[in-house]
Amino acid sequence: MDSLTPEARSRLMARIGGKGTKPELAVRSLLHRMGLRFRLHDRMLPGSPDIVLRRHRTVVFVHGCFWHRHGCRMTTTPKTRKEFWQQKFDANVARDERSERKLEELGWRVLVVWECETRDLIDLERRLGGFFFQGVDPSSTKP
Ligand SMILES: [Zn+2]
Repeated sequence: MDSLTPEARSRLMARIGGKGTKPELAVRSLLHRMGLRFRLHDRMLPGSPDIVLRRHRTVVFVHGCFWHRHGCRMTTTPKTRKEFWQQKFDANVARDERSERKLEELGWRVLVVWECETRDLIDLERRLGGFFFQGVDPSSTKP
């Protein structure tokens, strides 16, 4: 049992279940409460973004800090099979960058919400509100 932390495993299982991860559900309900309307997991768009707000020409990715390498405290690396994990992580990060670039080329605004940022929903709501209603740069907070 070297490969996944319990948290990573439950995230993976949530993903497989297709119902969205807990952080993703938190962002969805927040956006909904803010009166924003969206579609989910649009496979026609690069990277099949988790949340698509067509009216705002914006896509939202809710990234797990572990899988997408946020660099925060939750960005742990398994102690064994390091090389295997490193390759996996590198591939994820490269794919994210590629998808974001393609989406921006298509004229979409790309908003990344990190899993650890969904722990403070008040702060997150303020940021999302600034972005959607006041046009504030949504740049993701650095860890
Ligand atoms: Zn994080």
